[in-house]
Amino acid sequence: MTGFATKAIHNYSAKATEHGTLRVPVYDSVAFAYADAESMQLAFEGKRPTHSYSRISNPTVTALEQKVQELSKGLSVIAFSSGMAAISTTILGVAGAGDNIVISKYLFGNTLSLFCKTLAPWGLKVKMVDITDLGALENAIDDNTRAVFIESISNPQMQVPDVSGIASITQDKKVLLIMDNTVTTPYLFNTKEAGVDLEVISSTKYMSGGATCVGGLLIDNGSYNWKHNPKLSTAAQKYGPFTFIASLRQEVFRNLGTCMAPHNAYLQLLGIESMTLRIDKSCSNAQALAECIDKLPGVQDVFYPGLPSSPYYEIAKKQFGGLFGGILTFALSSKEKCFRMVNALQIIKRATNINDNKSLIIHPASTIFCEYGHDELLEIGVTDNLLRLSVGIEDVDDLIKDLKQALEAC
Ligand code: PLP
Repeated sequence: MTGFATKAIHNYSAKATEHGTLRVPVYDSVAFAYADAESMQLAFEGKRPTHSYSRISNPTVTALEQKVQELSKGLSVIAFSSGMAAISTTILGVAGAGDNIVISKYLFGNTLSLFCKTLAPWGLKVKMVDITDLGALENAIDDNTRAVFIESISNPQMQVPDVSGIASITQDKKVLLIMDNTVTTPYLFNTKEAGVDLEVISSTKYMSGGATCVGGLLIDNGSYNWKHNPKLSTAAQKYGPFTFIASLRQEVFRNLGTCMAPHNAYLQLLGIESMTLRIDKSCSNAQALAECIDKLPGVQDVFYPGLPSSPYYEIAKKQFGGLFGGILTFALSSKEKCFRMVNALQIIKRATNINDNKSLIIHPASTIFCEYGHDELLEIGVTDNLLRLSVGIEDVDDLIKDLKQALEAC
């Protein structure tokens, strides 16, 4: 058995390429030719696995999907144009009007907006729960619940759910469990072992090489029995564990056109090769910064699951193997003070995005969550005096110096 880093670097599953290239070539072709009309018919009927059109599949994108499948040990993978494309296509594939999805009330702002604003008018209901309250979760699930949707570490609240505890409820109720594993990736957290059925990732972040391009992934762990989903129960008789992936490729994903571009798949394959080194460094930098900021005057609170004072420290340690992610948040006395501090930074960039190679800072309430009113922000734990720091892979001493001088300046 080879380790994660070895698998991430070596191209075990790719078919031998022309000239023995060590990297998968970019097959920048829209369509693929067939020898005869009969082969074409078989391909379109899904009876012969082959590439026909790059909106449905492409050899470079397939190589990325196979690489992620090997690393995650999932059953099957689809790559998307973005993390949001992976999430929206997945939800449209499992639920429809009259159904409901139980979601953590602490989700990435755009995911929350997708559920509550984009999908709600189409008749999909959303039930928000505190995902650390397993009793509330259990009560929220009813006969029309098609999935429970959670994140591995919520941001900016830094809440870490007990994934195995949640999975035992969803398995018992025969409801699908979907988890956004963007900030932990299959390197820190194997969702299959924890009982998650579908994993979605914004590969824009760590997996792309640290923000080289936008991309998304869906990993089907193969654990859900699709006969329990009314939309897919007929297909389940034919496709068994491959039901969902088949229904996406032959309908939802194909029709929505949420595919990844071949050049982005190439960049992401390259990014995956160095992923373990970058994640190790970003997490150790984040740990050091959280410990340092915690002691600085003027800082009211620091939220990072790697601090023993965090209520999520023990569960995070157990789930993520001793690394706690590359994002932390901290509170100052007011929004004005946050702005003054952000404006005084010299190395850390004022930018959105997370898990870039560069350290990035943002005031979530006035940016990512600006579409929400005061009361909604309070409900989802995004306060006006909170800053989010996504920690990169720079020299940690330089980051500490920058933060200290900016805090002194404000
Ligand atoms: N999920 C999480 C946890 C995110 O932080 C983001 C983006 O920041 C997304 C999903 C959406 O990903 P993308 O920007 O690739 O669409």
